[in-house]
Amino acid sequence: MTRPSSDPTGDAGNFVRERIADDVAAGRHGGRVVTRFPPEPNGYLHIGHSRAILLNFEMAREFGGRCHLRFDDTNPAAEESRFVEAILADVRWLGCDWGEHLYYTSDYFEPLYGYAEELIGKGLAYVCDLSSEQIREHQGTLTEPGRPSPFRERPIAENLELFRNMRAGAYAPGARVLRAKIDMASSVLPMRDPILYRIVAQPHHRTGDAWPIYPMYDFAHPLSDAIEGITHSLCTLEFQDHRPLYDWLIEHCSVPHRPEQTEFPRLNLSHTVMSKRWLRRLVDEGHVSGWDDPRMPTLSGLRRRGVPAAAIRNFNAALGLTRRNLTVELARLEHAIREELNRSAPRRMAVLRPLRVVIENFPEDETLEFDAVNNPEDPAAGTRKLPFSRVLYIERDDFLEDPPKKFYRLAPGREVRLRYACLLRCESVVKDASGEIVELRCTWDPESRGGNAPDGRKVGATLHWVSAVHAHPAEVRLYETLFSAEDPMRQAAAEGREQSDYLNPASLTVLHDCRVEPSLADVVAGTALQFERLGYFAADPDTKPGTPIFNRTVTLRDEWAKLQRRG
Ligand code: ATP
Ligand code: MG
Repeated sequence: MTRPSSDPTGDAGNFVRERIADDVAAGRHGGRVVTRFPPEPNGYLHIGHSRAILLNFEMAREFGGRCHLRFDDTNPAAEESRFVEAILADVRWLGCDWGEHLYYTSDYFEPLYGYAEELIGKGLAYVCDLSSEQIREHQGTLTEPGRPSPFRERPIAENLELFRNMRAGAYAPGARVLRAKIDMASSVLPMRDPILYRIVAQPHHRTGDAWPIYPMYDFAHPLSDAIEGITHSLCTLEFQDHRPLYDWLIEHCSVPHRPEQTEFPRLNLSHTVMSKRWLRRLVDEGHVSGWDDPRMPTLSGLRRRGVPAAAIRNFNAALGLTRRNLTVELARLEHAIREELNRSAPRRMAVLRPLRVVIENFPEDETLEFDAVNNPEDPAAGTRKLPFSRVLYIERDDFLEDPPKKFYRLAPGREVRLRYACLLRCESVVKDASGEIVELRCTWDPESRGGNAPDGRKVGATLHWVSAVHAHPAEVRLYETLFSAEDPMRQAAAEGREQSDYLNPASLTVLHDCRVEPSLADVVAGTALQFERLGYFAADPDTKPGTPIFNRTVTLRDEWAKLQRRG
């Protein structure tokens, strides 16, 4: 069976699909499949989230169910509506459609409060006056049981009264919490009387000042799943320990549905940090220009850099879903990006570090036009005209006055091909007072129009070029990995240093004096292109008509493909 390219689970196996298929076959949940993607709006989504998004939406699609998008907004201190907007845009960009199923946990504050009172009424929750530090001290460890809170045996009526006072705003933040009454000796730490509600004196991005108390994630999440009729609650492995609590809450509250939690492994990427908390620090400390800086592993950063959504879908599909957390080589993501852009990106001429070339035997006032292929992978993309005149620019790196053995490009006395144009010979070099090369004096072979001489003679290289009078100035931003360490989190922890110590100082190079072919003068922001011989680029949102700015998405060098070939 061939799978659609949006399948994040690919050929490498998917135990989540198997589990859902078994449930459907057995008629569990009435054979229905309802999933949800539940981001907390406390930052922008990153590529790790793409796995969760694609998995949830794809499973729903495959089994004829639906997938909800639910903002898990239970912590007013960290959440903002600008993050809600960014997340909506990113999920839509990935090609996922929640239809009318957009929800907020904050929409359920009232029913959630009701479940809390129900637990109190059943003697399964109590108001605890210990400070958060004392609660931690009572918690015990993996090897030692916890100790009961002195407030654990409070009578039901007193608990109810105190909880209602909490809801009415009678106490200061931190004065009291509501806790489940489960088992202080449980081998599963989240079952040791977890906190269900706390007092927070901060306005919420949607409910404003209506609530002085907020439910904890562990309480709100399973019950929100139940309220929405979620059947398969897919989450990452770190929640495995929380599953007994998930089930306990579903069992003891009078919920309309009984969802079930299944964990899957996190996706991590080398040479970056992934958690929103750390990404936020990069933004706040000014190491990057914002959440959508093209060096960030955020979906908006990748998009700005020029990565097509299809590349992220294909990347996930190729990885599959194995049972363990996975740190993927950045080269693998880049491979998926190249494959996609190779198919779709029009080819264009751009010279990043221009070196002036004067063709001595070409008339001053003449312009030729040569046909250039827009995309050799896509004949339907057609051709365009490239103007050619007496003064050109070529790439500074494509010339050496005194070339070493393996340098096949231009040098004095040597002939190369200008792509789509002609053969060009370097006759002499012009230098300024400091000895720097400022111009090459060259000749062309008029018989070689289009790129080949009638006598079929060979040249060592084919160069890209632009016509100086016709070309348009442009800015180009080159990116390297944001961190030089492969795993900055682990290395910082191991060496007792800050992650920011491992930032790559060369992660951004801005070239202000580039030249691009005239067809790019009014390029639209977001357009993805291949600059011949240089890599894939995309017009940055800072682009204005007449002042193009390009981001390098990836170079053409495919390290991952090379590794694969070596086996
Ligand atoms: P972060 O630490 O980056 O904030 P999070 O898990 O706290 O991550 P949420 O907004 O709560 O972020 O995540 C929404 C969903 O995305 C959750 O179901 C979570 O399990 C999933 N998710 C988050 N990070 C990854 C990842 N690296 N790989 C796969 N799924 C992830
Ligand atoms: Mg989180």
